Amino acid sequence: MLSAYITHADCARHDMGPGHPECPQRLAAIHDQLLATGLLDCMVPYDAPLASDAELGRAHATRYLKELAAASPLQGHHALDPDTSMNPHSLVAARRAAGAAVLATDLLVSGEAQTAFCCVRPPGHHATHDQAMGFCFFNNVAVGIRHALDVHGLSRVALVDFDVHHGNGSDDILKGDDRVLMCSVFERGLYPFSGDEPTEANMVHIGLPSRSGGDALRQAVQAHWLPALHAFAPQLLFISAGFDAHRDDDMGNLGWTEADYAWLTRELVAVAQAHAGGRIVSCLEGGYVMGPLARSAAAHVKALIGAD
Ligand SMILES: [Zn+2]
Repeated sequence: MLSAYITHADCARHDMGPGHPECPQRLAAIHDQLLATGLLDCMVPYDAPLASDAELGRAHATRYLKELAAASPLQGHHALDPDTSMNPHSLVAARRAAGAAVLATDLLVSGEAQTAFCCVRPPGHHATHDQAMGFCFFNNVAVGIRHALDVHGLSRVALVDFDVHHGNGSDDILKGDDRVLMCSVFERGLYPFSGDEPTEANMVHIGLPSRSGGDALRQAVQAHWLPALHAFAPQLLFISAGFDAHRDDDMGNLGWTEADYAWLTRELVAVAQAHAGGRIVSCLEGGYVMGPLARSAAAHVKALIGAD
């Protein structure tokens, strides 16, 4: 079965200023690694389309969409929070990033592809129903998931989030939606300082202690995620693929390696093959040091497309 690689040059035109870790070079680093390892040759490339207002509106408040459009600057930067700002290209980049998740969903539901990797920015998992935060504007995976449920009529979609930070935005949008199971793992005590509190029944959150390493990840996934995912039997699996838990990424301290990302992805491929016809949409989230980001993403993609 075919694998889709979805990106767009517009995603690199969003820039939050010199020295900002969520920088345009992230996409080029991943692209170069996928090219050098031959993985790009195994995938079908697609340009990410612009998500429409209707598509974004399935995850976000109409008022928020209008506020964000009004905040878009004609030149320079407009700060939305201390970490998150817009340049004149940010809104288009954010619509492409969300549109990639929509296109990926269409390709998988129609059978044109079995798996998709959305190499896009800005990331999305901190964007709530009505707020941009933590480098995120639109919640890309939530837009894709609601498209799968509301437009294609699927009844069970799972989201797995392995970014080092808790996906508070995805939690905010998807909690209480019993068509969705969200499984997340993150480092305790990090931004956005959420995820440890009790939440809705459709959320499986695992906060891991600093410096717990890849073994703690594997034990937690086997004890908590896999039983929940198999019981839920998703028809489609989304991944919020952040690589900032890598031991060489200074955003977090969980100490994971490329081998941990490959192992985790293989486990998720097995879940998708058991219940979802192997269908997985993976969307890039964090990962801020170019070498480990590129190598981890390549290890993830290699397992995702079955080239390992
Ligand atoms: Zn992160």
